[in-house]
Amino acid sequence: MKKVVVTGAAGFLGSCLTKKLLVEGNQVIGLDNLMTGRVSNLAEIRNHANFMFIQMDVVSEHILSMKPLAGVDEIYHLASPASPKFYQSAALDTMAVNTIGTKNMLELAKSNGARLVYTSTSEAYGDPEVHPQQEMYRGNVNTWGPRACYDEAKRLGEVYCYEYYRQFQVRVKVARIFNTYSANLRNDDGRVISNFVNQAIRGQDITVYGDGSQTRSFCYVDDTIQGLMRMMEKEAATGEIINLGNPLEYTVLQVAELVKKLTKSNSRITFHDLPKDDPKLRCPVIVKAKKLLGWEPQITLEEGLLRTIEIYRSQLSELAGGDGA
Ligand code: NAD
Ligand code: UDP
Repeated sequence: MKKVVVTGAAGFLGSCLTKKLLVEGNQVIGLDNLMTGRVSNLAEIRNHANFMFIQMDVVSEHILSMKPLAGVDEIYHLASPASPKFYQSAALDTMAVNTIGTKNMLELAKSNGARLVYTSTSEAYGDPEVHPQQEMYRGNVNTWGPRACYDEAKRLGEVYCYEYYRQFQVRVKVARIFNTYSANLRNDDGRVISNFVNQAIRGQDITVYGDGSQTRSFCYVDDTIQGLMRMMEKEAATGEIINLGNPLEYTVLQVAELVKKLTKSNSRITFHDLPKDDPKLRCPVIVKAKKLLGWEPQITLEEGLLRTIEIYRSQLSELAGGDGA
């Protein structure tokens, strides 16, 4: 049985990953300071014999001397706010967890001979001038703006991984994740799928920022989690940066219209100011993931949205006492 540490275990991706790792027979230690995560995300596994949750900040240096972490085989370092709403309101914490927190996890990997997957982001490409984005593209990132705390911290997190790989031969793998979604996103998360679906099923305005011509490529959570686990497993991914995302690209307005259609909602689509530095185009090239991991997404946006809508709807229905929106 492998001993696996997941940072950010109470968050959206971390909780889904933790559950999958337990199903596959691993021992999992989840670390989280509950900054954006919720213990309720872990409710169904809280008493699982092979799971331990530790509430703590991975920026703390005490983490390196914690007894339960000794002998770890694999580390998934996911801790970091990911929604612009949250990372912009906690910019310094976001910078710390992706730099000092990443260094701490790399030290833990180094002292235990463990493998480490770091979840970087498509935001490392900034507002890209090359489209679609392949890993060799170096990006167009602004150090002087509201997204910099996330984008640049992730980029420095990648550099930490590179140096621990180069100097100490730590078996690092860096995933640049593109927009991932499911109903496990908090309904107040602020990211686009969570907002649009929750607005549509409540009959509220669907809030498109800008004219909605900016694009994103959306990956359903199960596909992303499978990609992360393949990265950990495959030796060919060691010392590599790999895009994980769904290459099907949509404008934000198309997403709003699709959500409205699939929810059969009467909501109006309304237009609001575009946030500063909002990337105009985003779509991954996944040739490297296909080649090194044998991975590509299986779930279309329509299919993933239908699953997401169904779950958010039943949550809303429970809240409303059973009669739905
Ligand atoms: P999330 O906000 O739902 O989860 C992040 C978790 O990290 C939360 O539970 C939070 O409490 C925890 N955390 C934050 N700072 C911490 C600290 N200092 N110590 C311990 N725990 C801390 O976000 P998510 O969508 O699950 O993202 C997980 C990771 O994947 C992040 O690193 C994010 O940058 C990356 N990523 C996600 C996406 C996506 O679309 N979901 C896209 C690109 C990259
Ligand atoms: N967006 C939007 N309405 C919303 C939330 C987001 O139009 O209610 C847009 C946002 O401006 C961006 C895209 O949707 O162009 C994706 O935003 P999100 O915050 O989900 O992720 P990111 O910008 O980090 O890709």
